[in-house]
Amino acid sequence: MNEKRVALVTGAGRGIGATIARTLAADNTDIAVVDYGEESSAAAALQAIAEAGAAVRYYRCDVSDFSAAKAVADSVAKDFGKIDILVNNAGVTADKLIMRMSEEDWDRVLSINLKGCFNMVKHVTPYMMRKRYGRIVSISSVVGLMGNAGQANYAASKAGIIGLTKTVAKEFGSRGITANAVAPGFIKTAMTDALTEEQKQAMYKMIPLGRLGETQDIADAVKFLVSDAAAYITGVVLKVDGGMYI
Ligand code: NAD
Repeated sequence: MNEKRVALVTGAGRGIGATIARTLAADNTDIAVVDYGEESSAAAALQAIAEAGAAVRYYRCDVSDFSAAKAVADSVAKDFGKIDILVNNAGVTADKLIMRMSEEDWDRVLSINLKGCFNMVKHVTPYMMRKRYGRIVSISSVVGLMGNAGQANYAASKAGIIGLTKTVAKEFGSRGITANAVAPGFIKTAMTDALTEEQKQAMYKMIPLGRLGETQDIADAVKFLVSDAAAYITGVVLKVDGGMYI
């Protein structure tokens, strides 16, 4: 596709989502940043996107809110004229062993990480169907494939994203819409920066490539999956984990 595309990226205010948004922005794509913080908390991300040469707007929204997600999808389509790409990246953790996990811990993580993806898919696909074109990428996790003690809610939400992605691929394939998932391993973010050197060394032993991933590693995988080069790829889970789960 040579014309400028429009991508809606959730959780793009910081972290992996911000790198995905900046990377797509540098690849002939205008960006709708959807995040639930104040716009000021995404200032650095918004500036980087603009500097990459893209039009950018910020939409404050909790993706777990069904009607708020609809309002955002409608606004993005109105403001930019279309939505070519949806990246479901917003996600949270509330890690505890099941023994200590509360109903709230379970509900909150499932409703943001999994229902949030459903909400965005539900409200963005009508615009994609009209154009008979769409690229959907949802950020899962290797934990969704492996399970992980202390992350029952998170692992279930990330496994759920895989089932949702495969179903979206089947339901919307005939409309020119592809749906894929990216499953990151351990990625260098504020969260992993906080680990002790000892914890990091233990992690490296689990990763054949012997290092943490960069947010750019994930963004490059997303860039590929939304490109014309991936036009015949749908329903896959692309692991970007340095071989952590083989
Ligand atoms: P992060 O916490 O740095 O960023 C997440 C962003 O999502 C934030 O900007 C936050 O405000 C936003 N967000 C959270 N809840 C939201 C909601 N209800 N509505 C809208 N926005 C919301 O996290 P990150 O490390 O950049 O992770 C991004 C994605 O990658 C997540 O889905 C995460 O599960 C996944 N992931 C991360 C790692 C890792 O090692 N960091 C590994 C595997 C998967």
